[in-house]
Amino acid sequence: MEAIQLVDLTRCYGKRTAIEQLNLSVASGEVFGFVGPNGAGKTTTLRIIAGLLPPTSGEVYVNGISVRQSLSSARRQIGYMPDYFGVYPDLRVWEYLDFFAGCYQIAESERPRMIEDLLDLVELTHRKDDLVDRLSRGMKQRLSLARALIHDPQVLLLDEPASGLDPRARVEIRELLVELARMGKTIFFSTHILADVAEICTRVGILEAGRLVAEGRLEELRLIASSRRRIELTLLDQVERAEALLGALPGITHIERLDGNLTGQRPALSFEFSGDDTGLCGILSQLVQSGLPVLQFREDQHDLEEVFLRATKGIVS
Ligand code: ATP
Repeated sequence: MEAIQLVDLTRCYGKRTAIEQLNLSVASGEVFGFVGPNGAGKTTTLRIIAGLLPPTSGEVYVNGISVRQSLSSARRQIGYMPDYFGVYPDLRVWEYLDFFAGCYQIAESERPRMIEDLLDLVELTHRKDDLVDRLSRGMKQRLSLARALIHDPQVLLLDEPASGLDPRARVEIRELLVELARMGKTIFFSTHILADVAEICTRVGILEAGRLVAEGRLEELRLIASSRRRIELTLLDQVERAEALLGALPGITHIERLDGNLTGQRPALSFEFSGDDTGLCGILSQLVQSGLPVLQFREDQHDLEEVFLRATKGIVS
């Protein structure tokens, strides 16, 4: 079942086209990272999915429900967290959630328990009597997430949930998203922080100037953007034999010794490989079966920025 489906979605603001012919499906239970630089059209897309902004053309379906035709039913499926937190000078944390629970017509008798559970989930129980405006930015983001969860929606649309947070608060938000995914929610979130995507997303779409320039699992995008994967191999010894064996295997190029011995570390090699994950497993098996003392075998993961840059330069399409 598709939780979110965008069909030829286009939105213009006057003469400016903010998003153009977006086609995208997100399956139920996915954590989808919607990545793009400033102005790419992420907020516009999220607001259209949430039913807050009409598209110029195209359709959006949430759990099969047309947002255009059945706005209120679609909205019941959606929890939307905007990229700003409004000003609420006189509200305490629990009052803030109580207010929004009222907006969703949740019975007063049910609210205390529900608010308690939500505050527990976002770890704000100890701040429940504080004024909202006194919370730190990370806490406000968590409270905003709790607000998006009030009516127990299946699909969460989160606009830059980690934006402006320090590393610790980013980790907290990330952990919360993982927890929500475990609870069976579908999460669609925008970001320009690539590390967030790498760690928690099942799939990623890269948006550039209103167009989806790449979409898929991160490994797939990496493969497309860089058909050569870089692998590092560390051994206890016998580096020459490893070098010879790798040199004889298909798909391997650019074998280089790393200066392990000079620095007193274990001997290490790096090489490029043009195959898929199964091929990579095969290489590791061959090394081990040949009796080579493999200490570490890992893919260099630092090419994410490169994937992004290449995709947004139109190299990937
Ligand atoms: P950011 O990461 O900076 O929030 P974004 O990817 O969310 O950017 P959008 O806010 O969707 O991008 O903006 C996409 C384009 O549409 C930009 O060129 C922006 O200037 C334009 N735009 C957005 N809202 C409006 C509006 N209300 N009126 C006119 N142009 C708009």
